[in-house]
Amino acid sequence: MRQKLFAVMAATFALSACVNTSDNASASKPNTVRPKNIIMIVADGMGPAYTTAYRNFRDDPATPNVETVIFDDIFVGNASTYPAQVSGFVTDSAASATALASGVKSYNGAIGVDQNKTPVTSVLQRAKQLGLKTGIAVTSQIVHATPAAYVAHNESRQNYNQLADSFFDDRINGEFVADVMLGGGTNFFERDDRNVTSQFIDAGYAYVDTYDELATLPTGEKVLGLFAPVGLPWVLDDSRKNRLAYLTQHAIKHLANENGYFLLVEASQVDWAGHSNDIASAMNEMHDLNLTLEYLYNYVQTNPDTLVVLTADHSTGGLTIGANGDYRWDPKWLQNLQKSPAAIAEALSDSADPVSMVNAAFGFELTDEEASQVVALAQLASLKDKTEGIQTLLDVRTNTGWTTSGHTGVDVEVFAFGAASDLFHGQYDNTDIAKKLFSLLPAEQ
Ligand SMILES: [Zn+2]
Repeated sequence: MRQKLFAVMAATFALSACVNTSDNASASKPNTVRPKNIIMIVADGMGPAYTTAYRNFRDDPATPNVETVIFDDIFVGNASTYPAQVSGFVTDSAASATALASGVKSYNGAIGVDQNKTPVTSVLQRAKQLGLKTGIAVTSQIVHATPAAYVAHNESRQNYNQLADSFFDDRINGEFVADVMLGGGTNFFERDDRNVTSQFIDAGYAYVDTYDELATLPTGEKVLGLFAPVGLPWVLDDSRKNRLAYLTQHAIKHLANENGYFLLVEASQVDWAGHSNDIASAMNEMHDLNLTLEYLYNYVQTNPDTLVVLTADHSTGGLTIGANGDYRWDPKWLQNLQKSPAAIAEALSDSADPVSMVNAAFGFELTDEEASQVVALAQLASLKDKTEGIQTLLDVRTNTGWTTSGHTGVDVEVFAFGAASDLFHGQYDNTDIAKKLFSLLPAEQ
């Protein structure tokens, strides 16, 4: 049934591509021209509650309406996320990344392999086979589940060192799989047993480890950019508050060429905020993604031969907007934060005046009751307990709810704009996103 529906959609696409040259009003013109460039964005963990929460977080309280955000303008569909049935109904990021990258359902933990652990081809790998340039720009380590499933194959997402080796060792038509790789992960590339970074440098890649250096590279380079030992810092604590937009912009600078490119972008840490039930980091990671979308929306105005597709791999944390029977959500308390709850918790240990420190970091005055909670938190030995205490203060202020420190099995939204974006309207499965992208790549030579 699913195959059949897809075939019908592909046929519709072929037909409407033919009539697309007619001069109908552009509003009614189907946007189905085959794209030259494809940018796939995965917002890890961004279930529907996150986009609603972000709209509320950005609301201007001086107006009677809740203003829309870019997610509202580019929404097109909805996708199911369940993994291969051996893993039930709740996916992890590896199985869902394999589904989004290759169109194949696999078990939780699988990186670019099917249920029999046989490698499956990703849309990024196929693009490379067809002569497009390829890249990844993420805020996790570049060997984390989502980017890894587009570039490499491994039976387990935990094998970070093997995945880093694969990034160098795998070849497609004699070339490396990815021309541009931006994110974190020096720990996995610069090891005692093997220095993969040096190997990439010897093979002609430009290597940078600071954001500023990245901007100094001449256009069109092959680039390895690793900006942190593992994942990048929370955006709240990072030196660049637009880091994902910046990495995306620089990836495009090096990938743009007459044959086109495939770029995977991942807002990796929406998921990490969900796992730690941290609404402050969740909203700020969403804002970094929002800036990336605004940049790409403008890019597509001047490069209409580019398709941008955004979805989540699953939802994380069971985030709820309002909690405990109270019909209230107050995101205004998140708007002046100066650092992440984790960084605030860390600063508690050496702070002579923890209450003033937290007042400054939160950007609002604690109540007497909250102040005494902060004094008690500062006495705790465990950094994890301190961090959870700071997060709980913000959850109570905002009335944010969480049901789990893991993932949930709800469907996720799909967003698209640019060339052929009409192909992504409707309700389908996450594997269909890969199938649609495969159908948009140029035909085999
Ligand atoms: Zn996760």
